Amino acid sequence: MSPAAEAVTDALRELHTRFAGLREGRLADYIPQLARAEPDAFGLALISMDGHRYSAGDASTPFTMQSVSKPFVYALALSVLGLDEVCRWVGAEPSGEAYNAISLEPDTGRPDNAMVNAGAIITTALIPDTAEAPRFERILDCLGRFAGRRLDVDEQVYASEAATGDRNRALAYLIRSTGPLPVDPVAAVETYFRQCAVRVTALDLAAMAATLANGGVNPLTGDAVVPEPVAAQVLAVMATCGMYDASGEWLLRVGLPAKSGVSGGLIAAGPARFGLATYSPRLDPGGTSVRGRAALGALSERLGLHLMHNP
Ligand code: GLU
Repeated sequence: MSPAAEAVTDALRELHTRFAGLREGRLADYIPQLARAEPDAFGLALISMDGHRYSAGDASTPFTMQSVSKPFVYALALSVLGLDEVCRWVGAEPSGEAYNAISLEPDTGRPDNAMVNAGAIITTALIPDTAEAPRFERILDCLGRFAGRRLDVDEQVYASEAATGDRNRALAYLIRSTGPLPVDPVAAVETYFRQCAVRVTALDLAAMAATLANGGVNPLTGDAVVPEPVAAQVLAVMATCGMYDASGEWLLRVGLPAKSGVSGGLIAAGPARFGLATYSPRLDPGGTSVRGRAALGALSERLGLHLMHNP
């Protein structure tokens, strides 16, 4: 093993040991099925641009993507429609609000960005639905290409969110009431619930983040999943909006584009360097994994990963 590979392996193992004792935070329970996760599960994974996979702990434990799906569906929308068209319907400003906030511009009804639920529901709605390739099939296929393998849906988590997701339905109705959208967010919200229930592991998420870091080309399969400019656009929105109302503080302290999800997944990308992912389901009040946040912060410091850093 090269000295660099050894440093990464040691760092992941050490962080796993250091933060496994951290038991703060609570499992998400507003989607009842998420409260059934193993609270102590903890996995870390990193994939480099040459396709090397590093991991520690429960990096192969399955869980659902939840909001970590948002940047990848945004990437698909940008690939299909282009930046200008997508920006007509979804903004790119940090909302400074929680993931489920009613963040709609007062005059246009446009959601602030594609990382909050309101913007993600529109992003999903923008994926064209055709007889040959229904909207959800296109999304599932794209998420799988980012991960480098065919993914599937956790039907129990999907059913659980579909049974309780009235706030997101209400958001979709509100969006529809505010403007002349070319698509129907109310119809798309069920597809959004399905995309949130797509099952992955920390290693899958690391491959997905690594694909964004690698200009849209999956470093494991060589598949050009999205064009390079799209990967850069997605990383830019992750950097400013990926951690909701904690995005500024995250960029300040950790310095990497990132995205969290309420099942406990967290990704971060080092452009042209690596994709990182953690899984641990206990969340802070903002909906981010407590151990994930601590581990990625410590890893960034230890390996000097902050993007504004001038070594
Ligand atoms: N499916 C979740 C919701 O829409 C995702 C939220 C998240 O992961 O932040 O409420």
